[in-house]
Amino acid sequence: MAKPHELKTIAIERNKSKEILKKSYYNYLSYNDKYTLDGNSYKGHHIIEDLGINVCPYCNRNFIYNINQTRSNYQLDHFYPKKKYPFLCISFYNLIPSCITCNGLTGKSDTDVKVNPYDDTFPFEKIYFELIILKPDFYYNIDSFDIKLNLSLLTDIQKHRFQTNIEAFNLEKHYQKHKEYVLKIIQKNLTYSDSYIENLYKEFEGTIFNNEREMKELITDSTIKYFHLRPLSKLTHDIAKELGLLD
Ligand SMILES: [Zn+2]
Repeated sequence: MAKPHELKTIAIERNKSKEILKKSYYNYLSYNDKYTLDGNSYKGHHIIEDLGINVCPYCNRNFIYNINQTRSNYQLDHFYPKKKYPFLCISFYNLIPSCITCNGLTGKSDTDVKVNPYDDTFPFEKIYFELIILKPDFYYNIDSFDIKLNLSLLTDIQKHRFQTNIEAFNLEKHYQKHKEYVLKIIQKNLTYSDSYIENLYKEFEGTIFNNEREMKELITDSTIKYFHLRPLSKLTHDIAKELGLLD
């Protein structure tokens, strides 16, 4: 039961012994009955409920949830692949509930994805989406801007590590498919002028909004509180912030 950043060390040390694997497996089952095997499959619905997430932690693009006790729309990804690190196939922290697109990507099992989305030692807050404006008509033409993940606040080692996630999950390519959505945020920025926002705040202060931040979060439909609950919430937040719709 190691933390995400400790998993690889453990894998290297213990991968060698099948006996250790067997013993640990049975210890694991007796340690926490909630995550035991049910027939041949994990009771994944407990994991996602305990994590309290509704969105794939790899891509932040797709909803993941339990439909009922036996059906769900996600899979449990083994962050360190079972083939290469059999010892870790039983670790709770090695199981990442993820959307079928991310878990099913061809070649992922052969690629070492370096950053576990639950690694609290990694500075995810330093990664952000940015708008690359190519032509002046970007506010009504999706071909006139691009969306990129900016890693410039990371160290070189951190950049290299996160780049493996971007490549394995095709993040930048997938996000190009959300340019229509980003266009709406750009157009919202034009529609909600400073004076319009000021008047809205004056009208609803103390009733709908307690402060300007709450009002801007309602306008942009964005808050960092939703990152694990709503698809595209990280993209929405970062682009709205870049445009000045959020502080
Ligand atoms: Zn995903």
